Amino acid sequence: MEIMTGRDRIRGAIAGCRRFHKPGMILTLVCFPLMPFYALFALPCCVGVCLWAWSIIALSAKLKCPNCGHCLSYLVTDPSYSKVPIVFHYPVDIPADIEECPYCHWEFASELESEPRPPKA
Ligand SMILES: [Zn+2]
Repeated sequence: MEIMTGRDRIRGAIAGCRRFHKPGMILTLVCFPLMPFYALFALPCCVGVCLWAWSIIALSAKLKCPNCGHCLSYLVTDPSYSKVPIVFHYPVDIPADIEECPYCHWEFASELESEPRPPKA
């Protein structure tokens, strides 16, 4: 059996949000310029904007430290940490040079317990 680390869980959470990013972006960028020619393109364009926005908003809700439950999304969404602008290049992982949770100093390379601990208030 493969060992699941904290980083694997974080990658999984990002991947779950990432699914909506590309389809949303493509729908938006294709349909938006076509709207003046055919008004019905406004519909898929709206859906695209929603998916695109959701993929970025959901990231801040889902990306939590597996150990303490604190929100870690700023590590990937803030360009000063992630070094990639999120709008076009969706992050796939927290930056490699960040190896532990800034709050509880739990190392992301640690093996996960089967159930994540409930977040502290
Ligand atoms: Zn933590």
